[in-house]
Amino acid sequence: MSNEPGFLYVVATPIGNLEDFSIRARRILAEVDLIAAEDTRHSARLLSHYGILTPVTAFHEHNEHEKAQDLVNQLSHGKQLALISDAGTPLVSDPGYRLVRAAHIAGIRVIPVPGPCAAVAALSVSGLPSDRFAFEGFPPAKSTARRTWLEAMVNEPRTLIFYESPHRIVESLADMVSVFGETRDAVYARELTKQFETVRPASLGELARWVSQDSHQQLGEIVILVHGARADEEAARADAERIVRILLKSLPVSQAAAVAAELSGRKKNELYELALSLKKSPE
Ligand code: SAM
Repeated sequence: MSNEPGFLYVVATPIGNLEDFSIRARRILAEVDLIAAEDTRHSARLLSHYGILTPVTAFHEHNEHEKAQDLVNQLSHGKQLALISDAGTPLVSDPGYRLVRAAHIAGIRVIPVPGPCAAVAALSVSGLPSDRFAFEGFPPAKSTARRTWLEAMVNEPRTLIFYESPHRIVESLADMVSVFGETRDAVYARELTKQFETVRPASLGELARWVSQDSHQQLGEIVILVHGARADEEAARADAERIVRILLKSLPVSQAAAVAAELSGRKKNELYELALSLKKSPE
């Protein structure tokens, strides 16, 4: 090993189509001393497809903490190391943050080898505003936590990008409809770069119905993009909230929601949720 510290390469791999594997990524993976991979068996298939014989070590969310220090020690002693995840760009809803941080602290150079990322690929074909966007990753698994989490984004003007697992897609879309409203523009991007690639722009309400009625759409890997809140939408919501607050002074929650729905033209369900939360924490 050399006296000079090695470099840590953070290498993107394909999200489906094996041709999306850059020449540079392949060369670096073949040249480094060690590859840290999320799932060694999964990555072995990709590496063997390209005849890359570099040793691979497991680096995943369960061993990230202790393994990061071990890998930084190896880097400090001159080993060249590459980090990959199962697919796409490491650290994007994938392990690696602790390793990269520890490498910086140890004065090790960290070099990106960019490539596929499902969020960016989906955004690039979505037709939604792409000048500013917020990547939110996976929503919480439980519906109550998910709704609270989504509520915090209801006035976010940037395009929102979510990852979701096929097991929760129907419930998650239903929650997005109830929080962001039926009519909010959205895009469903599934199985990008693969055989059943689907990119469908529609309102959230339409997408939720379509996905819940067509079980094929509930399979594979999914990105959901949601148009950011528009200024007029924000104003309309604020107005509805003002109405609900006033009504709650003299009416029970469900009646306040019903009257507010008539006055504002918004959905009763949405206003019921709002009235409930206002009742719990009035300010
Ligand atoms: N690091 C990866 C990246 O750069 O996109 C993401 C890893 S995350 C654990 C896996 C999630 O990414 C999937 O559940 C899905 O939401 C999304 N994803 C990955 N590949 C995809 C694809 N080909 N099409 C659509 N979504 C994909």
